Amino acid sequence: MEVLKYDLIIVGSGIAGLRAATAAAWASGGRISIAILSKIQAMRSHSLSAEGGMSAVLYPDKTGDSLELHAYDTVKGSDFLADQDAVQILVEYAPKEVRYLERIGVPWSREPDGRISQRPFGGMSIPRTTFAADKTGFFIMSTLFSETRRFDNINVYHEHFVTKFIIEDGEFRGVTAYDLKRGEFKFFYAKAGIIATGGAGRLYRFTTTAHSTTGETLGYALRAGLAIKDMEFVQWHPTALVPSGILVSEAARGEGGYLINKEGERFMKRYAPQRMELAPRDIVSRAILTECMEGRGFQHESGMCYVGLDLRHLGEEKINRRIPFIRELAHKYAGIDVLSEPIPVRPAVHYTMGGIHTDTWGRVLTADGKWVRGLWAAGEAAAVSIHGANRLGSNSLSECSVWGRLTGEQAAKYVLETSRLPAPDGKLLDVAKGEESRIFDRLLHKEQNAPSPYEVKKQLNDIMEEHFGPFRHGSSMAEGLAKLKKLREFSSFRVVDSSRVYNQNLKDALEVDGMLDLAMVVGIGAYARSESRGAHYRLDYPKRDDVNWLRHTVAYMYGGELKLLYTPVTITKWQPEERRY
Ligand SMILES: Cc1cc2nc3c(=O)[nH]c(=O)nc-3n(C[C@H](O)[C@H](O)[C@H](O)COP(=O)(O)OP(=O)(O)OC[C@H]3O[C@@H](n4cnc5c(N)ncnc54)[C@H](O)[C@@H]3O)c2cc1C
Repeated sequence: MEVLKYDLIIVGSGIAGLRAATAAAWASGGRISIAILSKIQAMRSHSLSAEGGMSAVLYPDKTGDSLELHAYDTVKGSDFLADQDAVQILVEYAPKEVRYLERIGVPWSREPDGRISQRPFGGMSIPRTTFAADKTGFFIMSTLFSETRRFDNINVYHEHFVTKFIIEDGEFRGVTAYDLKRGEFKFFYAKAGIIATGGAGRLYRFTTTAHSTTGETLGYALRAGLAIKDMEFVQWHPTALVPSGILVSEAARGEGGYLINKEGERFMKRYAPQRMELAPRDIVSRAILTECMEGRGFQHESGMCYVGLDLRHLGEEKINRRIPFIRELAHKYAGIDVLSEPIPVRPAVHYTMGGIHTDTWGRVLTADGKWVRGLWAAGEAAAVSIHGANRLGSNSLSECSVWGRLTGEQAAKYVLETSRLPAPDGKLLDVAKGEESRIFDRLLHKEQNAPSPYEVKKQLNDIMEEHFGPFRHGSSMAEGLAKLKKLREFSSFRVVDSSRVYNQNLKDALEVDGMLDLAMVVGIGAYARSESRGAHYRLDYPKRDDVNWLRHTVAYMYGGELKLLYTPVTITKWQPEERRY
């Protein structure tokens, strides 16, 4: 086992991780050593596929937009579960981040007068989604990655799969990682860490997220004594291409696209008469599924029910200039020419509102609210929490950039103020060696009658789709939980590839192992929450219940069992009101 020492370890190289690295490098004047670990090639991180844009108030004098309006839209969109002090931080820092990204080279789309263009997005009362055509994530990622290459003190470890977070006496000590390329096991120890490992869309089968968006690190976080917040809130994006699930960005509706049922009707008038297609995602997704359930959807040969996303009236010039990628993918993956036919779409899992429990600045907290010294979380992996029960589109890239920066800066300061890092003692090394042995001696050479990780993942996806979907019910969730518990009894998997180098089979088993714990967190949180709020909709409790449920769910592991507790929502300005769109 190789032992490596760094001042700061960042797990994850999406927008949150890369932004944290550049912020820490700047804030420390290049004086601290930084390692970025990514289980895939850094530039293949899921953020790359973000399309529509990043929300920020840029020209309040010209557009009538304001920080207050952005904050209100976000809080209302969250169904009042967002912490309003955290939302305030988001809206204040987002414009600074757009300008920072511009300075380092992101080619934002522009208006003829040179201003950065902004488009409307669901739940936002004014166009404030800043974009680079419909390849925003790609441009931000490549620019940030190039920026990290300017610093000699940032080392990127591609294809290093983190298997464990090591925390001792309430303090972050390091991580263990499987180096896929060299087939070796490594222990990285450091003064500080930032977890930026993204979401967990792959708990479900029909999802817009990358195959790497599995969320196992959240399961590992639980085992390390950390807590997970609001995980029952899973976002379905209304418009995923049928039958593949590839995202058709909200930019399509932002630029004026309509949703139509098989009668050719713009059905959103029944569900959100003012905002129509640009209502928040939870509302639009449920509207599409209701159209299907009531027989007004189209039927695809795959058996999927869908509705049409109609762009025909936008015209070729606008489509080519503002959403060229959508035209391309509809053609490539559905054989559709958007100039003459609507695109077949239906809701798919897209985002996880919940994540690692942190305070508003991204400091990782235990269930009882204590900061784990030296540890932060940022991006989709964290629940700071600005999205509450439902994220508004384009608020995630802002969150990644804002909290990437804030956690990077804080971690740099902490490192500089913390005395010298001693070499790991025997006890710490034993923990790391124990993990190496768990993976290479036991998991890799397990007897052959353990279940295949692929079979377990398939069953996991089936359970999540069937019992924890967009319309939930207590009795179905109870059944789902019983199935999940049975699945969780598997503590090992059959890994048929016995080599150490590039063992994808081993990597897949490690992912499923963490996903099982995380799925349980979604399940017990959803079952316990007897109300409907944002993306969590219960047929047996169809109303929001602020008296009993205006609070965050915090899950943690105690004696090998998952437990829940609840913490209050921070309300600074806006009392909960009925959401109307
Ligand atoms: C198709 C699509 C389009 C989207 N478009 C938009 C948009 O236009 N605007 C918007 O605001 N939001 C959008 N979103 C949401 C947004 O893209 C994501 O929330 C955001 O990019 C997440 O970034 P991140 O930095 O938190 O994590 P990611 O970009 O997901 O990166 C996670 C990182 O963690 C690493 N990692 C994970 N597990 C491990 C492990 N065990 N060991 C080591 N490394 C690990 C991965 O290798 C990766 O580097 C979109 C989402 C989807 C699915």
